[in-house]
Formats: sequence, structure tokens, C-alpha cells
Amino acid sequence: MYPAAFEVTKARTLEEALAKLADLGDDGRVLAGGQSLIPMMKLRVAAPTHLVDINEIPDLDGIKQVNGHLSVGALARHADVVRADVANHTVAAAAPWVADPVVRNRGTLCGSVAH
Ligand SMILES: Cc1cc2nc3c(=O)[nH]c(=O)nc-3n(C[C@H](O)[C@H](O)[C@H](O)COP(=O)(O)OP(=O)(O)OC[C@H]3O[C@@H](n4cnc5c(N)ncnc54)[C@H](O)[C@@H]3O)c2cc1C
Repeated sequence: MYPAAFEVTKARTLEEALAKLADLGDDGRVLAGGQSLIPMMKLRVAAPTHLVDINEIPDLDGIKQVNGHLSVGALARHADVVRADVANHTVAAAAPWVADPVVRNRGTLCGSVAH
């Protein structure tokens, strides 16, 4: 099966991504690792008409402690969480159990939460 027709915007900055998503409203979806969204689109369980690809936006892959909270960037992959020194122990301990190395190298923690 193939997905329904859709368009893609490759955002280069966070501002560009947010503006495009605001413009698109319910028609737009973020494309992060694509590990859940693409299979759903192929099965036509999801059929967004426009994807905003955030993978080229710099500095979205950080995992850091900020004022006692764990801050996880939208492009922090499951594999990054496994490796991160500062990751909350529970999150870091769970990450290696997600799927397999190929999926962990693409899939993001934020994508999992959003999904
Ligand atoms: C073979 C296979 C096995 C898997 N096994 C497991 C498993 O054992 N455990 C597990 O937890 N998961 C598993 N997954 C899912 C995997 O963890 C995905 O990576 C994850 O669910 C989604 O992350 P993603 O970055 O790929 O998101 P995408 O597929 O890109 O996006 C998923 C959804 O979230 C939205 N989204 C993504 N990022 C954002 C954002 N920053 N802001 C707003 N919305 C956003 C997208 O628009 C979409 O609706 C598996 C996937 C596969 C293909």
C-alpha cells in the first residue's frame, strides 16, 4: 500500500517550522524520525496532507538539565537518550528497550510522546 498524496516542507529553522505549522493548522504534521508516522501513512491510518520535516533544524537534539528539569530536544533520538550522561535514569534505562538499533537511531523521544 502507498500513502495518499502529501507535500513536505523541509524547515531550516524552528521559527520557519512553527510558522508553517501554524499556517497549516490541522492539515500539517511534524515529521521527526518518521518511525511511527510513515508506517501509519503507508497503511493510510494517517493521511496528513502536509508534513513539516524538522530534521534539518540545528540544535534540536540536546538533552540537558535546566533548573532541575530534564530538557529533551525534539530531535533527540532514542539512541541519544541511551548515551546521554544527564538523562533521567528511568528514561535512560527505558530507552534501550525501545525497538531495535535502526529504529532507535531515527525515532525520537518527543515523537514517541506526541504519538
Ligand atoms: C519496528 C518498530 C518497532 C518499534 N518498537 C517500539 C517499542 O518497542 N517501544 C516504543 O516505545 N516505540 C516503538 N516504536 C516507535 C518508535 O519509538 C518511534 O520512533 C516513535 O514512536 C515516534 O518517534 P518518531 O521520531 O519516529 O516520530 P514520527 O514518526 O516522526 O512522528 C510520530 C507522531 O508524532 C508527531 N510528532 C513527532 N515529533 C513531534 C514534535 N516535536 N512535536 C509535535 N508532534 C510531533 C508526528 O507528527 C506524528 O504524528 C517502534 C517503531 C518501529 C518502526
